[in-house]
Amino acid sequence: KSKARKLAKGSDTQIKQAAVLGAGIMGGGIAYQSAYKGVPIIMKDIQESALDLGMNEASKILGKQLERGRIKLDQMVKTLGAIKPTLNDADLQTADIVVEAVVENPKVKQTVLAKLEADMPDGTVLTSNTSTICIDVLASALEKPENFCGMHFFNPVHRMPLVEIIRGSKTSDATINAVVDYALKLGKSPIVVNDCPGFFVNRVLFPYFAGFTQLVTEGVNFAKADKVMENIFGWPMGPAYLLDVVGLDTAHHCTDVMAEGFPARMARQEKDPVAVLATQQRFGQKNGKGFYQYV
Ligand code: NAD
Repeated sequence: KSKARKLAKGSDTQIKQAAVLGAGIMGGGIAYQSAYKGVPIIMKDIQESALDLGMNEASKILGKQLERGRIKLDQMVKTLGAIKPTLNDADLQTADIVVEAVVENPKVKQTVLAKLEADMPDGTVLTSNTSTICIDVLASALEKPENFCGMHFFNPVHRMPLVEIIRGSKTSDATINAVVDYALKLGKSPIVVNDCPGFFVNRVLFPYFAGFTQLVTEGVNFAKADKVMENIFGWPMGPAYLLDVVGLDTAHHCTDVMAEGFPARMARQEKDPVAVLATQQRFGQKNGKGFYQYV
């Protein structure tokens, strides 16, 4: 009987230990959210510096909550203690569920997921936080695609309620149920969606980004566009700022996946500012420079 089926069944078999692969913007946020909501989590990366950043991010969020009187010091200490940073694959073994949150590159994700499947106990629930890559494309690297689905969190993880749970063509109901259950435990509002490039949200968001980058290429000032969207249209942030929050390297990879998936609707743009900035190593807030300068 698969672990997913057992996990979906009853309270004593639910997800008790999670793991996240990648300690970047998303991995760090997922680790924080899981630990804060009482599901201890192992956070694995290939770089020590990324683990430090992930832990710092969690401390910062908790520090703000402490300042505002929303939590007590012991809760902060407990939450941080429930995140186990590691560079070793062997430490993942106890996880009931793994959320893959490494770079948005199909080949890298397939390699990472295939290795995970080979290393982890049979039937461990595997998920990917991919923003755009079809779940079936990633599942093609797996022996048991029934144990795998998308689990797409939004940025910043601790503030955004939505989690898209993406059903691949071979994902079992038991896997979907276990992942929905975990998302609910994290205090999120999951929706189960079908598989296609960009799923639901990024099929809406990336055409918006494409409209914006076309305007910039045609000479519109990006900061002015942001001001109109923020101050007059009333959205919390404009597209350039949002792209800096997402990460321009990640947005660039996502744009590629969307262009490949929907060639007629999402045609590649020559001199796309997102591609240009990413090539100049301007990755957005994560390295202090993107459309805007942060340091
Ligand atoms: P990031 O660049 O901040 O972090 C990626 C991390 O993965 C890095 O720390 C890197 O060292 C690590 N990594 C790379 N290869 C690895 C491996 N083999 N094993 C373990 N760790 C590895 O990226 P991010 O913004 O956190 O994005 C991660 C995933 O989440 C991507 O698939 C992205 O599309 C998705 N996502 C991003 C956002 C966003 O707004 N940034 C939102 C939703 C989903």
